[in-house]
Amino acid sequence: MGRAFVYVILGGGVAAGYAALEFTKKGVSHGELCIISEEPVAPYERPALSKGFLLPEAPARLPAFHTCVGANEERLTPKWYKEHGIELILGTRVKSADVRRKTLLTAAGETISYKYLIIATGARALRLEEFGVSGSDAENVCYLRDLADATRLADVMQTSTGGNAVVIGGGYIGMEVAASLVINKINVSMVFPEPHCMGRLFTPKIASYYEEFYKAKGVNFVKGTVLSSFVFDEDGKVTGVNLKDGTDLPADLVVVGIGIRPNTSLFEGQLTLEKGGIKVNSRLQTSNSSVYAVGDVASFPVKIFGESRRLEHVDAARKSARHAVAAIMEPDTTPEFDYLPFFYSRVFSFSWQFYGDNLGEVIYFGDFSGPSFGAYWVHKGHLVGSFLEGGSKEEYEAIAKVTRLKPAVDDLSELERQGLGFVVALSEKLPVAPVINVGGSMSTVVLEKPLYAWHATAGVVVAASIAAFAYWYGRRRRRW
Ligand SMILES: Cc1cc2nc3c(=O)[nH]c(=O)nc-3n(C[C@H](O)[C@H](O)[C@H](O)COP(=O)(O)OP(=O)(O)OC[C@H]3O[C@@H](n4cnc5c(N)ncnc54)[C@H](O)[C@@H]3O)c2cc1C
Repeated sequence: MGRAFVYVILGGGVAAGYAALEFTKKGVSHGELCIISEEPVAPYERPALSKGFLLPEAPARLPAFHTCVGANEERLTPKWYKEHGIELILGTRVKSADVRRKTLLTAAGETISYKYLIIATGARALRLEEFGVSGSDAENVCYLRDLADATRLADVMQTSTGGNAVVIGGGYIGMEVAASLVINKINVSMVFPEPHCMGRLFTPKIASYYEEFYKAKGVNFVKGTVLSSFVFDEDGKVTGVNLKDGTDLPADLVVVGIGIRPNTSLFEGQLTLEKGGIKVNSRLQTSNSSVYAVGDVASFPVKIFGESRRLEHVDAARKSARHAVAAIMEPDTTPEFDYLPFFYSRVFSFSWQFYGDNLGEVIYFGDFSGPSFGAYWVHKGHLVGSFLEGGSKEEYEAIAKVTRLKPAVDDLSELERQGLGFVVALSEKLPVAPVINVGGSMSTVVLEKPLYAWHATAGVVVAASIAAFAYWYGRRRRRW
């Protein structure tokens, strides 16, 4: 039994949704494209799972956050795929791949062949068992990678109101889930081995700003140690955690966010791997010319850093997916993928964005006791990274535009004196960023314009009142 398609996208997450939309823009014909996904639902905006999905009131639910609403584009419901003649093969795991024969074998025993394959298998959450701790299967120990995990977490949260949660891990997932737990009136302890939260990106000063806010909300930080074992009741439910430093914490709910591992196993021994992911060139093409890889699983050349990186962020998934489709459909006119790394997060009423690289000396600006502040990273005399909390549409655009250019910085104290004004003034002197056009020949400044539609309103509110802004921001922030 088997089916054949011209284009197959393996994986049905963020990258798959954006690739599908791009295929239709480039003129794919009915019956040519299929998406195979282990998940039972059409591609959705995964970041919503730790944000709007966990709200106690009016939580976000599908179909509201199918891709590509996160970039203010069409919402691709199952009906949309049908209307565009795209086959969605859902709830189906691919268990082996043969890139020489150009076939995939599903767990149900079907062989699917392709002319072009896009690997968009993303990543899986690391489990405690991989660090020698058992107990992940307990009903109140939750992970958060897919919709099934989020649904389970939301259910356990509902029965834990007023109780105690222990969050293991101080990265993205830990920080966002901890905020959701607080909003759901659950007492939170966060446990992680690093000296401060978001250790891979934040400096101690930036981390301390957010940690102080979390503490004011009642979050208990237990740093410099790790989980050593769980305490179970007679039904196998976790009632507490024991930490390596001897601390014991009561727990009605445990959330584990200790990192991810890219899903590369189907292709090991067949494609070249790099940095834990599948190595691709600047056309997102793997070591096999018919196979492309995008999103969390791909290790791609980041031109402005002159080296390959594997990024675990939604913006890279969206843009690499679009670019791979353009490279397949319009090979002669598609330029090299020239990506500026961009991360963001939204917790409580906070919203930050980071562009570039966090390398070198750090110069802070703004008011760390107020709603807006930031930092620049200067490496070898050039500004290579910018972080901004509480910025306006124009300010975020300015840091993106200027960071991409890596301007020379001769005088660090002058940069500190000018603060945000440095990038704002410089960006005004630059030409307007051309709109992203992955299929075109121009090299673009990648700004995701639609994402900022609502910031225009925010700018006016800021002028009127910082306090009103903070309130508005908390109420109106996007949910994914
Ligand atoms: C809870 C959460 C919150 C996040 N928040 C943010 C944020 O605020 N900002 C940010 O920048 N990033 C965030 N991210 C990261 C972002 O969601 C990812 O970078 C993005 O989803 C990567 O897209 P992808 O398509 O590569 O992988 P995924 O979206 O993970 O999709 C991979 C898909 O492949 C499927 N699959 C894997 N193997 C197989 C197989 N063998 N057969 C069939 N199907 C398979 C999976 O089931 C899944 O559907 C968050 C991630 C999570 C989990």
